[in-house]
Amino acid sequence: MPKVHNFGAGPAKLPEEVYEIMKNELTNFDGSSISLMEMSHRSKPYMKFNLEVQALVRRLLNVPDNYKILFLAGGGTAQFAAIPLNLMSRTGTADYVVTGDWSLKAAKEAKKYGKVNLVLPPTDRYVEIPDQSKWNLDPNASYVHICANETIHGVEFDFIPDTKGVPLVADMSSNIMSRKFDVSKFGVIYGGAQKNIGTAGVALAIVREDLLNQALPICPSLFDWTANAKAESILNTPPMFAIYVMGRVLEWVERNGGVAGMEERATKKANLIYGIIDASNGFYSAPVAKSARSKMNVPFRIGSPPNEDLEKEFLKGAEALNLIQLKGHRNVGGIRASIYNAVSYEEAEILAKYMKDFQNKYSK
Ligand code: PLP
Repeated sequence: MPKVHNFGAGPAKLPEEVYEIMKNELTNFDGSSISLMEMSHRSKPYMKFNLEVQALVRRLLNVPDNYKILFLAGGGTAQFAAIPLNLMSRTGTADYVVTGDWSLKAAKEAKKYGKVNLVLPPTDRYVEIPDQSKWNLDPNASYVHICANETIHGVEFDFIPDTKGVPLVADMSSNIMSRKFDVSKFGVIYGGAQKNIGTAGVALAIVREDLLNQALPICPSLFDWTANAKAESILNTPPMFAIYVMGRVLEWVERNGGVAGMEERATKKANLIYGIIDASNGFYSAPVAKSARSKMNVPFRIGSPPNEDLEKEFLKGAEALNLIQLKGHRNVGGIRASIYNAVSYEEAEILAKYMKDFQNKYSK
């Protein structure tokens, strides 16, 4: 099989080493001679593994003791509902900082359970994170929600907002484990696993303990963080395979310099690709303001105004070289290079070379 370089936005590339480990373990989990997929979630090997993965998350992100680490079914989207269901009861209102389609979706879901205050004026062009002095925060909000990295628009926070004591809730689906940050500045951190930490179907949530025990009475048990925390994330049959993959990916992160190592690589890869765009004399353009450029998802256009035929040609040429899943999201068009943790610097170099060659061939 040809070697492909997968720049997909998610489900995204897994570290190659992890495939090798999984191949060997697929029919023999922890010496049991059966696969994890056929094993009771209450068996000793699984219960042990479940706690080991929690400990791994705690180590990698330096999670303080007063936070619970949860594995929750239903991916990131289920958490869009779980957040208001678990947190809205205090004041019945919440602040949403909408910087792209994902935070917009989260805000729309929250509206089903309480009042949502949009902190920023509505827009359909997400290319920046306005300065905090322009935010319309409600001091009475139960929480403030942000999306730390907008996967579709490539807009990433490079600072932790000051929410004046109101709990900060962050969707880190597409940048968790790619940069160091102070967990204690957040009330809740959550994300679907299928970009940087594994495969679809599970969300990781890190919840400060004082935010438990306040779910709305209508909150389904499965969405209730408190019930899940009490059950150590084995309230029902969990998405065991997705949690298993998460464990193996996180071990790989730990072996490769931890989150600091990932951050260093992410910065190098992002500098390389944005560098090509910035040096292209307008042949390539990145719509996002420099201060909000994502190190995980690099959306860009070709030509000014964007030339869709040339973009198609770019994608065709990329496929021919086995550089795959580079098409921009249908909502924004153009090209999007996702350079998550599992994408190596060498792979980013292959893409960078292709971008340069393409420009040389087609720029007038
Ligand atoms: N949040 C962000 C930033 C995402 O990129 C995605 C999916 O791509 C989601 C939430 C939704 O996650 P899921 O598909 O696991 O529900």
